[in-house]
Amino acid sequence: MATRRYYLETFGCQMNVLDSEIAAGQLRQLGWEPTDEREQAELVLFNTCSVREKAEHKVWSRLGELARRKRRNPDLLVGVLGCMAQNHKEKLRRRAPHVDLILGPRQIGELGAALERIERERAPVVHADLTGPVDLRRDIAVRGARHTAYVTVMYGCDFRCTYCIVPSTRGREDSRPIAEIREEIERLCGDGVKEVTLLGQTVDGWGKRLPGRPHLGHLLEAVHDVDGLERLRFVTSHPSLMREPILRAVADLPKVCEYLHIPAQSGSDRILKAMRRGYTAARYREICAMAREIVGPDVAIASDFIVGFPGESEQDFEATLELVRSLRFSQAFIFKFSPRPHTPAWTLEDDVPEAVKRERNQRLLAAQQQVQTELHRALVGSRTEILVEGRSSHDPGKLTGRTRHNKIVIFEGEADRYEGQLVELEITDASPLALYGRLPGRPPLHAGSRQSVRARPEPARARPLPMARVR
Ligand code: SF4
Repeated sequence: MATRRYYLETFGCQMNVLDSEIAAGQLRQLGWEPTDEREQAELVLFNTCSVREKAEHKVWSRLGELARRKRRNPDLLVGVLGCMAQNHKEKLRRRAPHVDLILGPRQIGELGAALERIERERAPVVHADLTGPVDLRRDIAVRGARHTAYVTVMYGCDFRCTYCIVPSTRGREDSRPIAEIREEIERLCGDGVKEVTLLGQTVDGWGKRLPGRPHLGHLLEAVHDVDGLERLRFVTSHPSLMREPILRAVADLPKVCEYLHIPAQSGSDRILKAMRRGYTAARYREICAMAREIVGPDVAIASDFIVGFPGESEQDFEATLELVRSLRFSQAFIFKFSPRPHTPAWTLEDDVPEAVKRERNQRLLAAQQQVQTELHRALVGSRTEILVEGRSSHDPGKLTGRTRHNKIVIFEGEADRYEGQLVELEITDASPLALYGRLPGRPPLHAGSRQSVRARPEPARARPLPMARVR
């Protein structure tokens, strides 16, 4: 029988990338082969994101194109997975009746069974339910990178931040039990993975509904001795859930990297309240101080910010600017507010003009860039351990890897010799977004030197996914 090909395009966050790996594993079990050519595929799937309007527009437009193709070829199968399936299932049925499969994020584990049912019954399958259990078992042969891997440890979110779509697309928070997580990490490390990142929307809240109410520190301890595992990380933490025992585990367990991603979102108490974040700027500062005291003064703390939230005054924004300047984050991910349907903030007046949002975005970026420039320059001349991820996507003549603090380092070396290895480098130069280093005995690499002029920082975990295109 001829091989059947599928095309899977992924939009949005790391959670979706991992869900796509789970989907691709099921397709592999059913004998489907991935293709990068949508036109060649007999099954076209979109794993969708509702966080940005632009990503939704792209999916609607691709579905429009596929309607024409489906008229020519009624055997073509089209599926919408993920957040849009959950949020827009009725609209999808109305506006895109040629879609055969609508599967919500919590139903990702049902993809294989749903496809078999469609082929058996020749009728569409729609299942998008916020309350059902989530099956996150995966085929580890289908993954985006050989030596680093994400492992979902919890799903959904119990918070109700007013700008966020996640609670209405992924439902309530559920944690996976330790044994299941450890078993997946053992399989990954048995297959060459050296660095595992535990993934959850509020990962520091892991365990809340499990028997005995274990906390994230217990989980870190329980998986720490897996054979072959060299590094362990976790993202994303919620400030209100970060507690001393978790930080003690980070400090005490040598494989756990000194990197915390704890989004602040704003430095203004008024805006934090309107966002319903559940903490004040002063409390956030205390949490960072506690992390620096327990884990160490150079622990890398990364943060997220939204500028231009409804009602944000210049004074509110100045408070955010001050937070960024004084807390000296290792990284900051900055977004302009855009109202999303199905969120409480959708009903608020989006009263910060676009030009002001843009200007605040640039000012905050500039402040963070200044901090990063200073932090990176201070590292020049030091030695640091990196896990080599492979060739730089911006300059395939160079290799790239990450430090324990999640800093990208670009250096010269042979891919076949160093990929997947932990190596020690001397940092020889720095730009605001990356470090440049050299192996012992090699010439130094400089950010502005001719050979590295094209070397820009790697996007977070940029890597080819054999089964999915990521937007
Ligand atoms: S904590 Fe807030 S921002 Fe994060 S996923 Fe939950 S609701 Fe969204």
